[in-house]
Amino acid sequence: MAKTLIRGARVFDGHGLTGPRDVTIDGRVIAAEAGEPDEVVEADGLTLLPGLIDAHLHLKGPETLGKLVSYGVTTGLDMASWPASLVQSLREQPGVSDIRSAGLPVIGRGGRHAQFGMPEGAYAGTPEQAGEMVRSRIADGSDYLKLVLEAPGEGGPDQAAAAALVMAAREAGLLTIAHAASAGAYDLAIAIGVDIVTHVPFGEALRPDQVEALAAAGQVVVPTLTMAESISKLRGTRLEDALETVGALHDAGVPILAGTDANAQPGVPPVEYGSSLHRELELLTRAGLTNAEALNAATAGPAQYFKLADRGVVEAGRRADLLLIAGDPLTDLSATRSITRVWVAGVSK
Ligand SMILES: [Zn+2]
Repeated sequence: MAKTLIRGARVFDGHGLTGPRDVTIDGRVIAAEAGEPDEVVEADGLTLLPGLIDAHLHLKGPETLGKLVSYGVTTGLDMASWPASLVQSLREQPGVSDIRSAGLPVIGRGGRHAQFGMPEGAYAGTPEQAGEMVRSRIADGSDYLKLVLEAPGEGGPDQAAAAALVMAAREAGLLTIAHAASAGAYDLAIAIGVDIVTHVPFGEALRPDQVEALAAAGQVVVPTLTMAESISKLRGTRLEDALETVGALHDAGVPILAGTDANAQPGVPPVEYGSSLHRELELLTRAGLTNAEALNAATAGPAQYFKLADRGVVEAGRRADLLLIAGDPLTDLSATRSITRVWVAGVSK
């Protein structure tokens, strides 16, 4: 196995930067000991980050994965893509972003998402059908269950069906993620106890009682501020509402993860693959996270909450998903865009 020594970089440890130190890549993983390297990368004055994780995107094709990795996004968590054969064809491709996928989401018959020409299997049924629906997602290879919730009366899955799906997924060991883009949909996400809520209300702020409930239940939020910004430009909604919501969630102790909603879907507000995650980090700091907290939200945070124990931190034994940048991102976040080199499972780009 080829060994690479990265010499003298300061390393982001999830909270701050270490002093200059050496990190060795041995094959696919970070090594405990240096040994004899085949290559030495002089990294004096550079910063080494864990590869970035985008906790909300939509896969398109192989070109998506290459684009992501060129921006240092070494893991992409897809929040709805189908057919299963497309998702399967994008898994474990060497040298490009590694993926997890929700596969086909669960939607209601009358909601906004029904207009995207969804396969019949996407529609929530009765509570009694929840177990079968979860089993079919697992058979298709879904890594977690994505529910598209709407405010009451807006055509999403009803509360009984959604609650039964969360229960069935939990019994099967699948994380549950709910799309909620309004305060009404958030009420439902809180009531049914999903693990992770994605988006924040676009065009209104969350209520304080909702923020408290999310914090008390230990729910995690992936706000997709980049999407909020794209929507605000198209529809004139106030980005400030989304920023205030994220600030309030963060103050209340709700874990916040970086996700962009990057997509190539006609009719959906545009968000670019890869570059958007750097924008998301900037928007998270505008909402009140420190630079270090924003970086954590795109590395160790998503690894922890999506149970990806093999990545997200620069330590021996983890995947060698690494991003070498010029400058200090704790004093100037734009440094994350000054990419010197990227490794995905030890393969250098
Ligand atoms: Zn999405």
